[in-house]
Amino acid sequence: MLTRIAAGVRVHTSECIETNSTVVDDGSRALIIDPGLTTSELIDLASGVSALGLEVVAGFSTHPDWDHALWHPLLGDVPRYGTARAYDVLEHLRAQPDWRSQIAAGLPPEIADDVPLHLFGLLTPLSEGTVELPWDGPSVRILEHSGHAPGHAALLIEECRVIVAGDMLSDVLVPMPDLYGDGLDPLGDYLVGLELLEQAASGADLFVPGHGSVGDVDELHARIAADRAYIHDLRDARTTADARVTAPRPGWEWVRDIHEGNVERAALLRERNVASDQSRGRDR
Ligand SMILES: [Zn+2]
Repeated sequence: MLTRIAAGVRVHTSECIETNSTVVDDGSRALIIDPGLTTSELIDLASGVSALGLEVVAGFSTHPDWDHALWHPLLGDVPRYGTARAYDVLEHLRAQPDWRSQIAAGLPPEIADDVPLHLFGLLTPLSEGTVELPWDGPSVRILEHSGHAPGHAALLIEECRVIVAGDMLSDVLVPMPDLYGDGLDPLGDYLVGLELLEQAASGADLFVPGHGSVGDVDELHARIAADRAYIHDLRDARTTADARVTAPRPGWEWVRDIHEGNVERAALLRERNVASDQSRGRDR
């Protein structure tokens, strides 16, 4: 089911991890952002769009994770944009013979058989530094930053005053900084991403997180503050008071495991950084 949240913007929420797909339109043409998740949900999304008399002319993936780079033939054979870095990550993954089983291993078991992977990750890369999405509908500004994943991008749909945040600013999931990637300062990168979103906030009345509920601009600032405090706690090895960890919504208790993983990984990175500081000191 598509829910209209602003003129020209509708959201479809999947049952699994409350994943949001966003549809932007100009009355006749539509852009689909992060369509998901199961085959029946993707069919439902495609039929909802065509029932509105809209033709899908483009897609966008906010980042190269499995739940944000899916597609379905009913959405059409159109360019599915992503940042150059997101494209590189997906090309590298798809070049590995066992990429399907690598993804399948990480799927939530309850939907693992229902996630269509044959069109997964087939993006059209935007050239480095592209700031506006190349399509004829409402103008879409690209806010790229590498906090959550390489090539992650939030979108500001300027005329509609809506931010599509990608995997940031969730009310159900804690931040998942890219602690397993090659970045030297993933927590610092995450804070940069939050800053970008904060700068864009004056151009928005609403935002759509990758998972969880849509919010207004007050809620946007509250979630930026919550995510920032969470990252500061991770960075400084403090016990977090974040409600997503201390009082998760019923059914979301597993978010504590993500949090524990974040804490462990952040500690390892801290040790690594201390060790490399010390060896730099010896070299001097
Ligand atoms: Zn996600």
